[in-house]
Amino acid sequence: MRAAVFDPKLARPEKWLVLEEREQPRLGPGEVLLKVIACGVCRTDLHIVEGDLPALQPRIVPGHQIVGEVVAGVTADLPLGTRAGVTWLGGVDGDCWFCRHGMENLCDHPVFTGYSVDGGYADYARVRADFAFPLPEGLEAAQVAPLLCAGIIGFRSLRVAGVQRGERVGLFGFGSSASLAIQVLQAWDCEVYVVTRGENHRRAAEAAGATWVGAEDAKPPTVLDRAITFAPSGKVVVAALASLRKGGVVAINAIHLDQMPAFDYDTLLWGERQLRSVANVTRQDARDFLVLVRQLDLHPSVTEFPLHEANAALQAVKHETAAGSAVLVL
Ligand SMILES: [Zn+2]
Ligand SMILES: [Zn+2]
Repeated sequence: MRAAVFDPKLARPEKWLVLEEREQPRLGPGEVLLKVIACGVCRTDLHIVEGDLPALQPRIVPGHQIVGEVVAGVTADLPLGTRAGVTWLGGVDGDCWFCRHGMENLCDHPVFTGYSVDGGYADYARVRADFAFPLPEGLEAAQVAPLLCAGIIGFRSLRVAGVQRGERVGLFGFGSSASLAIQVLQAWDCEVYVVTRGENHRRAAEAAGATWVGAEDAKPPTVLDRAITFAPSGKVVVAALASLRKGGVVAINAIHLDQMPAFDYDTLLWGERQLRSVANVTRQDARDFLVLVRQLDLHPSVTEFPLHEANAALQAVKHETAAGSAVLVL
C-alpha cells in the first residue's frame, strides 16, 4: 500500500513527507482495518512535521481525521463495509485517574492517531475498534473528514467555554474549526462576533452570517459572555480575554501557542474571568457531535488533494491558501 511518511531525517522544508510503498498493517486484538477513503489535514499535522510537537516515533504516518471502510477485524458495531471515522484520540488506557473520572481526553497513557501511532495518510489504517465511530450516511467522505477534528474539537471548545443558548460568543480566528463552530452557535441562537486576520477569513465569516466581523486588532463592539481562540498565538488569547464580561470564559483551541505575553491581572482576569485550554476530545464528544451533524446538516467546504500531494495539502494549511478544510482523497 502507499503511505505518506514523516521521517525527520528525510524531511525538507515544505517537503516534509515522503511517499513510500509498504506492507498492509497486521491487526492486533481489538483492532479494525480501514480502507481509507478520505483523511483531513489539520494544523496539528503541521505542528508535528515542523517539530513544534516533539516526535514520539522515529517515523510516522500522520492523519487523524480518517474516513474509511471496515475491511477486516469486524465487530458487532462495525460490520464489514461500515463507513467509520477515527479522531485524534486513538485510544486510552481506561484505568488511570482521568479515565476513571470521565476525563479520558486527559488520559495519562493516550494513543494519538497519526502521532503516537500511524494515521490516515495511507491506503489502509489500523485502528482500535472502540475508537472508530460508524458515520452518518448522506455526506461525502471528504466532507465528513474535517468534522472529525476541526468539527469535534470546535464543539468541545464550546462545551469547555460553557456556552449557553442565546449568549454572545467571540470566535478569534476563522479557519475550519471556527467555520463549523459558528453553525452550531447559530443553531443555539447565539450572537457570534468574529475577530480574524486575513481578508478571506473575514469574508468567510460574513458569508457564514456572523453578527459582527473585525480585523485582528479590532475589539468587538460589545462585551462577550464567552470566547474561543483558534489562532496559535498568545496575543490573540489576551485580546479575547480583554473582550469578556466578568465571569466570562476564554477557551483556547490550540495544541500549541507561540507564547503567552504578560497581561494585566487587575483588568483582564480579576472578576472571575477564566482562561481554559481545550485538550483532545472524548468519545462522548464525538458521538454527541455526530448526532448534531445529522440534525444541523453541516456541510464543510473542502479542498481535495490526492495522497501523493500530501505536502501540497500541508502547505495549503500552513499558508492558509485552501478554501475551507484541506482533505486527502484516496
Ligand atoms: Zn486535528
Ligand atoms: Zn487513562
